[in-house]
Amino acid sequence: MNINKIIIAIDGFSSTGKSTIAKQLAKQLNYIYVDTGAMYRAVTLYAMRKNYVSDDKLLTDQLINDLENIKLSFLFNSNLGFAEMYLNNENVEREIRTIEVSKLVSKVSTIPEVRRKLVLEQQKMGTEKGIVMDGRDIGTVVFPNAELKLFMTASADKRATRRYKELLDRGDKVNYEEVLFNVQERDRIDSTRKDSPLVKADDAVEFDNSDMGLEEQFERIMSLVNDRVK
Ligand code: C5P
Repeated sequence: MNINKIIIAIDGFSSTGKSTIAKQLAKQLNYIYVDTGAMYRAVTLYAMRKNYVSDDKLLTDQLINDLENIKLSFLFNSNLGFAEMYLNNENVEREIRTIEVSKLVSKVSTIPEVRRKLVLEQQKMGTEKGIVMDGRDIGTVVFPNAELKLFMTASADKRATRRYKELLDRGDKVNYEEVLFNVQERDRIDSTRKDSPLVKADDAVEFDNSDMGLEEQFERIMSLVNDRVK
């Protein structure tokens, strides 16, 4: 039964901690968590492997013609406590988080046909509600009727620092300037693209978490959830 189950849509700029808070909410509420960024990253990885995209090119038509061969799925990993991304049955969870994919993902995400395919898949995942989904267009395009919409922001420096630490912890070789540039560049492309740009939905609650701890953020959001569930 879906009684009292809601859809929580979380949008916002890159590295604002959307996935951290979304995972925590899903765990607390026993909801499904869907990281839509992982889906765009997986399509980008596919396009990179096929040589459809690089720093100076994007073979849009070739990628569109090949979209039907891209099968995306999430498989829950009980050790990690969240679902990992599979591209044509291959676990790509690690590979999609590299800086190389981050540098090209916003370019691939401008293609309307790519967006249409992924949005349809995302909407199917929400038919039963009881879902926390994060991305850039969840409250505006994927679930415009979501019961709770959040919009996350933080200063570029705070966000780049978070991302930089994450990448270093994984053992990736990156420098801070490169990460900062990537975060800002992705925000620019995501906010200015023609198809479903990153914008705050009118009815979204905005959180600037530059100086807000995770615990405080979580408590505030849980109280919004409780209001909506009642
Ligand atoms: O969330 P994450 O930073 O992993 O997203 C990677 C990229 O995927 C974003 O910068 C954006 O270009 C694209 N994206 C999107 N729409 C979504 C989720 C992600 O365009 N709903």
